[in-house]
Amino acid sequence: KILFASVCVAFLAVKWTAPRFDAESLRGAKVLVTGASTGIGEQIAYHYARFGAQIVITARREKVLQQVAEKCLTLGAQKALYIAADMASESDPDKVVDFAVDELGGLDYLVLNHIGPSPFSMWEGDVEHTGWLMKVNFLSYIQMAWRALPTLEQSKGSLVVVSSLLGKLPSPFVAPYTSTKFALNGFFGALSHELLMKKSNVTISICTLGLIDTESAMEKVKDISTVPAYPATEAALNIVITGATRQQELFYPWFTQIVTLTKDWFPSVTGYIMRNSYKYTP
Ligand code: NDP
Repeated sequence: KILFASVCVAFLAVKWTAPRFDAESLRGAKVLVTGASTGIGEQIAYHYARFGAQIVITARREKVLQQVAEKCLTLGAQKALYIAADMASESDPDKVVDFAVDELGGLDYLVLNHIGPSPFSMWEGDVEHTGWLMKVNFLSYIQMAWRALPTLEQSKGSLVVVSSLLGKLPSPFVAPYTSTKFALNGFFGALSHELLMKKSNVTISICTLGLIDTESAMEKVKDISTVPAYPATEAALNIVITGATRQQELFYPWFTQIVTLTKDWFPSVTGYIMRNSYKYTP
């Protein structure tokens, strides 16, 4: 009980000391959001639009991107451009960053959010798929980050990385996905230290999300998970605010931070609870 109370007090202290968000700081901001044709990325684009930002969105489906961009303009975006790209390609990640920098005349926020589709099932040895997913969910992130760093340095900008509780807590049914999120946390955690040591102008925000009610996630877990899902629009707003206030970490919903702490202190109990949150009969 004492331990739990200490964790809660520490958690509340962090919340109370969080920097204040100034919505005006996003008016005219130059933003690139990946994986923005649907789900959390689409909602992130709409929030930036409401704050009057200039946005470039990307994903593979051009027609859907066009509709999202049109909605961004109706919501108040100063600019809303789109570029179709496949993050499994060698050249598309660089092409997208170059497009955004050219069209917007620089970049203040690079929000890396896309993920490739991956089955929700026990791992059956598909090494090739895991390699492909690493390219889409991880390598393209670091490629885009590297390409954008010089312009972010000039603008005192931010890199926002959308990760997952499953990048901190290995989970059954998603071994390839979990691996890509662990890789992201490791890489951008290290890069964050390096930028601080170099006194860089760029901040990195790593966002740890729990289960969010996007269509793709709900479709996967509907018959198997008992974990509650949280709204994509609220997750997206928290991500936008975390980037704008230059915080290094976001935990959404709040209890993902408690889970992250307790899994190291009580690994067996946390593992047991997690395995039992799935309906599975061998
Ligand atoms: P979605 O599956 O809803 O959206 C994925 C996006 O990525 C789409 O815009 C899709 O568009 C794009 N995409 C897929 N493949 C590629 C590709 N090869 N190249 C370029 N773009 C691609 O994901 P969510 O909104 O649910 O998740 C968004 C982020 O939040 C992810 O980083 C995810 O890990 C994280 N997250 C989500 C959780 C959840 O429960 N939903 C929980 C924890 C973290 P298109 O098909 O047009 O290419």
